[in-house]
Amino acid sequence: MTKPCIFCEIAAGRMNAEIVHEDEHVVAFRDIHPQAPVHVLIIPRKHISSMLEIAPEDAELLGHMHLTARKLARDLGIAEGGYRSIFNCGTDAGQTVWHIHLHLMGGRSMGWPPW
Ligand code: IMP
Repeated sequence: MTKPCIFCEIAAGRMNAEIVHEDEHVVAFRDIHPQAPVHVLIIPRKHISSMLEIAPEDAELLGHMHLTARKLARDLGIAEGGYRSIFNCGTDAGQTVWHIHLHLMGGRSMGWPPW
């Protein structure tokens, strides 16, 4: 039997997470291993395994994920100082969970490039 997707489980409320926002299309929760004082993951309720799998009909959903990041940046107090919002796509980029997620990170200054 294949293991259930952990982010689908969180979105369905079957697995615990510290949820900071949810609506019809997305769920946002605190990363379990935060890499910044604020580190939130914004996921679509729809299962999409990687950014390579997005389709034209997902355009509105992806826009909604970014607008949610903007709203949460304000709500969580990192909008003023600046924040980073990123998708890791594939193994070389460091993707470890195969359900797309937008990392929203802030609350400290960050370097570039992100090794
Ligand atoms: P990726 O490396 O871009 O795929 O990011 C996956 C992120 O999911 C990592 O930052 C993990 O710390 C985080 N993560 C994995 N499992 C959980 C969980 O159950 N709850 C919250 N965050 C998780």
